[in-house]
Amino acid sequence: MFCAALTRRGTRCHRYSLAGKRRCRLHGGASTGPHDWRLNVAAMVVGRRRWLAHRHALGLRASGGRPRKSVKVATMAEDAREHLSRQIVVLERALPADVMTRRIEDLAPADALGRGALSGLHQLIRIVEQPLDMSGSPEALKQQRLIGDMAVAGARLYMRAAEGAFKPKQSNTLITLLEALKDAQGKQNG
Ligand SMILES: [Zn+2]
Repeated sequence: MFCAALTRRGTRCHRYSLAGKRRCRLHGGASTGPHDWRLNVAAMVVGRRRWLAHRHALGLRASGGRPRKSVKVATMAEDAREHLSRQIVVLERALPADVMTRRIEDLAPADALGRGALSGLHQLIRIVEQPLDMSGSPEALKQQRLIGDMAVAGARLYMRAAEGAFKPKQSNTLITLLEALKDAQGKQNG
């Protein structure tokens, strides 16, 4: 095996590497390596940094590594947005079309609850769409999170209440369906 080192001229070294090594004696083949493991790690970090700089200088993507935190947060926000949009569609289907424009006193309790949940969900989407300001003070971030948590809790409460309010309607349909089935079965047997 030839020595794997590059000379200062950028050409390959022509010497043979030492037995079981990848370098000749002149290029560090006789070295037993740093005896302090921290130096190995330090060399690895330096090499990785140089490799990344090299890739970026060429305008190429450097593979590997964890995604940046901001990318992860952006993906999470996108997922949350999609989830909220789906919930809004489900609620809008269940509620009368003019639920937002009618006077709240004129709405059935279930529809009023649904309207509350709908406003909560719309507010949550606005919160999620806000660009996250990571440069802000930790206090500001904490506050942002608190507002978000409260909005989530509020929307959940509304949804649970609205679900309960919608249930009698749904079970009525279910009972009608079951009765129809029983009826059909009775006819088949009789
Ligand atoms: Zn060499």
